[in-house]
Order: sequence, then structure tokens, then C-alpha cells
Amino acid sequence: MTSHSNGNSDSFVKMPTIKFTKLFINGKFVDSISGKTFETIDPRTEEAITRVAEGDKEDIDLAVKAAREAFDNGPWPRLSGFDRGRIMMKFADLIDEHAEELAALDTIDAGKLFGEGKAGIPHSANMLRYYAGAADKIHGEVLKMSREFHAYTLREPIGVVGHIIPWNVPTTMFLGKVSPALAAGCTMVVKPAEQTPLSALYYAHLSKLAGIPDGVLNVVTGFGPTAGAAISSHMDIDAVSFTGSTEVGREVMQAAAKSNLKTLSLELGGKSPLIIFDDADLDKAAELALLGILHNKGEICVASSRVLVQEGIYDEFVKKLLEKKKSWTVGDPFDPKVRQGPQIDKKQFDKILSYIEHGKREGATLLTGGKPSGHNKGYYIEPTFFTDVKEDMLIAKDEIFGPVMSLMKFKTIDEAIKKANNTTYGLAAGVMTKDLNVANTVSRSIRAGIIWINCYFAFDRDVPFGGYKMSGFGRDFGLDALYKYLQVKSVVTPIYNSPWL
Ligand code: NAD
Repeated sequence: MTSHSNGNSDSFVKMPTIKFTKLFINGKFVDSISGKTFETIDPRTEEAITRVAEGDKEDIDLAVKAAREAFDNGPWPRLSGFDRGRIMMKFADLIDEHAEELAALDTIDAGKLFGEGKAGIPHSANMLRYYAGAADKIHGEVLKMSREFHAYTLREPIGVVGHIIPWNVPTTMFLGKVSPALAAGCTMVVKPAEQTPLSALYYAHLSKLAGIPDGVLNVVTGFGPTAGAAISSHMDIDAVSFTGSTEVGREVMQAAAKSNLKTLSLELGGKSPLIIFDDADLDKAAELALLGILHNKGEICVASSRVLVQEGIYDEFVKKLLEKKKSWTVGDPFDPKVRQGPQIDKKQFDKILSYIEHGKREGATLLTGGKPSGHNKGYYIEPTFFTDVKEDMLIAKDEIFGPVMSLMKFKTIDEAIKKANNTTYGLAAGVMTKDLNVANTVSRSIRAGIIWINCYFAFDRDVPFGGYKMSGFGRDFGLDALYKYLQVKSVVTPIYNSPWL
């Protein structure tokens, strides 16, 4: 890595050397068949970092062919789970060794906080270790049948998997998808988001160094409607694990239905509520509300974009929130004092600002923020909080995917539950109260895949994560994610004096 200024006079940053920009197919870095490349942009500077190979349908075909061969005839699915696990552990160790460089790649590609990435990447590498430990514990069951038969089940790898992933947390997404699929004995093609191809290609390189056989893990960079669509409609891909927007999830589902009915899991958008009751610790509540919407600049599927506050503490809560916001700094994500970097790209930047304008037009009160944060370059937006938000306003309904909080009041627990559930999404929710009965009632009444009580963003690799309603189906993390890359086969055999013998 070299150190130099990024062009903003007030910052001094570390820039990683870009080593991998080609497609990774069958263990080799190769140009796309068309020879085309595309720019990946640094959201801090709005300038191109480098050009990356643009994979298309033909490149996906090649990658699928390699993955199919590795699955049908290669060693990976045939290795013992224990041996797969050892290689995955090596992969994780290599990631730890290169954590700083990988974090820097995610910072320049996605605008992620460098300090957070440096600490968080080894944490994400633990995903490989977690599933490595599970790889030799994949068992079927012995079934009780009639006296004439004996039966058991096998859990077999599902086959060739396509992973289509978004840009907001490139490392977590890559390792969250790839780790359980590797443990299951699958082979795969990963298509990272076009905004953030760089760390995925680096992970591909490290997988080879770790000893993952050629063809097992392929990475094809490119665009959604071309490379992504080629995965969801491919006849020789057995399962797709997609994370992204609800609109694209719908297209992926249609493509799967029209092609080979491949197994799907869809991790989609959210509009998650954080419900704060009168008895909550106010300081903590304000801190969590701030973090819940501003972490990763609001570009988090589980962002607490709707904050529901009980009327008795509403005014005091708002005061605290504004107080805490004063120490929240927006700026260059390499700067350790900064809490919020730039939005991913111009499109997202414009989309967020247009939602803010919409909120104002619809009559919500702009409490703070509401505009770009005054940097010369880069897609920086001020933390933006709206009060007097009504449930039917667009800012209360749509996923904005930016640092925009909608504050609403409620009187009773029933009203809070009703408001929280008044969304087409169902990804996450937070509840802040000291009353166990209230916490239990709310957590059982909210239709969402994860409920955090007196905490937020409390993710763990052991805890399944996924959506209810239009937030999708299927789970990442935990053993549930491993099972989605396995299928059950039943084996039945006659015994004793069976007439079948
Ligand atoms: P997106 O849906 O635009 O893109 C996601 C991926 O799909 C990208 O790799 C893209 O290239 C690809 N894609 C686009 N069009 C495609 C098509 N027609 N066929 C196949 N693939 C296609 O989403 P995004 O803008 O990258 O990410 C933001 C969205 O992701 C938000 O809605 C957010 O909530 C969601 N998200 C969900 C989770 C979760 O776990 N539920 C996590 C992170 C992000």
C-alpha cells in the first residue's frame, strides 16, 4: 500500500495497490471474452479507481462449465468435510493476514469506514471458520420405518451455486454466501455488484492460495442485467442465493421459474422499525437510533429507518438524538474520527436527496440535515431526521438506503405493533424497554426475521438472518444457511423377512 492524499486537501489516506481486475474462472484470472472492461468509481472522489473486466453471458457460461466440472468430477464435493474445513481455515488465515489491504479496497470501492473494515474483516473471516467447523458434521438421519424397511437420509451438496451480491457490505456478503456453500461441498460462481468488484477478486486470489481447487470458486464481475441475469436464468446452476433489492429479487425469481426451477433464496430490502418505550434507557435509545440509521451511511438492509417513540419520552428523546448527532462526523472514511463516509455512487446519492425532497413536500418536518454535507467532491450526505412523519408518506414506506430517519410517535403497545407491521417488508426490528413482558409481546408480534431487544445490529455468524414478507425468504448465517446448500436424499432398503426380498 502507498500513502498519499486523495485530492481533498484536508485528508491523508492510504491507497491500496490494485492487483486483480480480471475475471477469476477455473483458478485463473482471465479477460472477458468480449474484452470489455468497466470503471469502478471511488465515491470519495467521484473518480475511476481502475477498470475491471466486464463479464457477460458467455463468461458466466465458462464459469458455470468450470464449476460443473469441479462438482461432477473434481475433488471438492468428494473430500471429507474435515479436509474441506482445513482448507477453509487456511483461507480464513490468509484473509486475516491481508485484512488491512482488503479493508482499504472496500473503503475506496464502497466508501466504508477503513477502521471498521480493518477490525471487521477478521470477524467476517470467522464465517469461514464457523462453517469449516460444521463441514464434518453434516449428517442425515436414521428413520424409524415399518419392520420391512430400513431408511436413512443423506445430506448432499446441492450442486453448482450462483451467488449474486450487492455493494453495501462487499466482504460480509462475499464471505457470508461463499462460506456455507464451500462447507456443503458445492461449487460456485459469484457475481459481485458492479460498484464493488475489487475485494471479491482479491478473495478469489486468496482462495487459490489456500488450496481451494480450480473451478470451485469462480468470480465474474459485470452488470446485473447481463452477467447477473445469465446466472439466474442458467440451466446448469442448481441454486441461486441472491441479496439485493426486492425489484431485482422478483426478476431473479421469474428467471429461475422460466429456466430450470433452480432453488432460490432471496435476501431483499427492509424498512425496519426501532420501537422505543417510555421506560427505555434514553441515552442508550438515542445512541442506538443514531447508529441504527447512520451506520454504513444508512446503506444497510436492516437500517432502523422508522423510529417509533412512545409519547411520554418523545420530546426528550428528540433532544438527546440531536445532542448525540453533534459528534457524528461525515467525511473521508480513512479518517479515524469520521463516522460516516460517502454514499456508494451518484445514482444512490441522487435517489436519497430526492426522497428527502419528497419528505419535505409531503409535509414531514425536517429536524436536521437534508442536504449534501458540503464536501468539494464525493457523495456525502448529512444525517437527516424527519419528525411528524405519517405512515402513508413515501419516506415512511420506501427503503431509502441512506442516512434518513423517520420519527413517529405512539401511545400504546398495540399501536406500536400495528405501526411497526405496517410495511410490506419484514427484515428486522428493534425494541427498547426494561419490561420483559413488553419485549416478549412485541418480539412475537412483529413479522420480521430478526428482532433485537435493547440492542441493534447484533449480528452473529451463529444467528440465522433473513426476511419475512417482501424482504425475501431463505436464511444467511447459522446452520440454516448451510442447509440451503444441501439437499436431502432418502435411502430405503428392505430388511428382515420383507416380501421385497
Ligand atoms: P440490486 O438489486 O440493484 O443489485 C444486487 C445485485 O443484483 C447486484 O450484483 C446486481 O448487479 C445484480 N442484478 C441487478 N439486476 C439484475 C438482474 N436483472 N438479474 C440478476 N442480477 C441482477 O441491489 P443493490 O442496489 O446492489 O443493493 C441494495 C439493495 O440490497 C437494497 O434493497 C438492500 O436492502 C438490499 N440488501 C439486502 C440485504 C439482506 O440481507 N436482506 C443485505 C444487503 C442489501
